[in-house]
Amino acid sequence: MLVDRLRNISNCLPAGVQLLAVSKGQPVSSIRALADLGQCHFGESRIQEALPKINTLKSRKRLRWHFIGRLQSNKVRSVVRSFEFIHSVDSLVLAERINRISGEENRLPKAMVQVKFREDPTKGGYLPEQLLDEWARLLELPHLKLVGLMTMPPIGLGMEERGILFKECRVLADKLNLQDCSMGMSSDWKEALQAGATWLRLGSTLFGDRSKYFNNHTDITKSN
Ligand SMILES: *Cc1c(COP(=O)(O)O)cnc(C)c1O
Repeated sequence: MLVDRLRNISNCLPAGVQLLAVSKGQPVSSIRALADLGQCHFGESRIQEALPKINTLKSRKRLRWHFIGRLQSNKVRSVVRSFEFIHSVDSLVLAERINRISGEENRLPKAMVQVKFREDPTKGGYLPEQLLDEWARLLELPHLKLVGLMTMPPIGLGMEERGILFKECRVLADKLNLQDCSMGMSSDWKEALQAGATWLRLGSTLFGDRSKYFNNHTDITKSN
């Protein structure tokens, strides 16, 4: 049951490590159930799916929304208005756009820079050297609070290799004086935890399988 899964995961988390419940593909009823158990942080990766859910739950003032998907430039304003955290800042151009729009909207999103530590054509992200080159310019953006790095290993990478990759992310975050590392999903969160993650992004191991039905930008709120 949800309550047992939440308790089992929470019991493994040391101080300073937080659970981000990835609610993409999950109905509002499941988010409510977790919120009733005290979970505050929820992650969504598709804006069309997220906005109706956030709107439905807006009376729950304790909820904190994290955007974890690839962020298209025409969606930045919606994300800045509705999300407190953005885990997927993957270029200077995107960071500058978020900064400009956050200024206009009078917001200060907490941002994590997505970094790619291995070749992976299926994912966005900074290469570590590129991030170091542009770091000073990112730091100059006043309407974006840089709090950490986010990473996702390539699909198919072995568990031991994942542990090594996560450690590289921790080392880079420390070098940049960033507290947070958003890393670890359902299959590899123990390796991420071991390597120094501060945000574990867990979907299926927490909620159960995502429904295919929800993968179509269907209006989730109607299912309740
Ligand atoms: C879907 C998703 C997750 C959660 O995946 P699970 O394997 O279900 O835990 C985490 N991070 C990102 C960026 C995602 O898109």
